[in-house]
Amino acid sequence: MSNATASVPLLAKLRALALLRCPSCRVGAMFRSPVHMNARCPHCDYKFDKGNGYFLGAMYASYGLSLAVCGIQTLLLLLGGASTLVTIVAAIFTACLVGPCFAFPYSRCAWVWAERDGHLHDGEEDVQALKRAYMEARGMKPKPPIDPP
Ligand SMILES: [Zn+2]
Repeated sequence: MSNATASVPLLAKLRALALLRCPSCRVGAMFRSPVHMNARCPHCDYKFDKGNGYFLGAMYASYGLSLAVCGIQTLLLLLGGASTLVTIVAAIFTACLVGPCFAFPYSRCAWVWAERDGHLHDGEEDVQALKRAYMEARGMKPKPPIDPP
């Protein structure tokens, strides 16, 4: 896993995230429209989509962002003196329509950034550690790696 953007200052990262920029070069746009994501960075050719199911975890981030937007809106409405009915209808509208539309590009961008920074892993290291522990417990020797021809 790459940890190349770990040394990037936090404000530069936040600015690039807010502008939906590539985590590798922070120049190329990740989205060509509000709903269409580029497969690769137009500036440095960094691959954004790593395959089927890659953005499944971004849905959790999208859900959290939607709820945050909904919560802020509800708080502002209640502090502004809006009626309970207006507040509930606005909260439902925001949580179901506005929030996900707003959160979609930012959640995907945050997901790609988190993967690029090494905050995500696919569990392969855990599987290898379990295999090693299993073989050690049974006194088995691991197979030597096969050299490519
Ligand atoms: Zn790039």
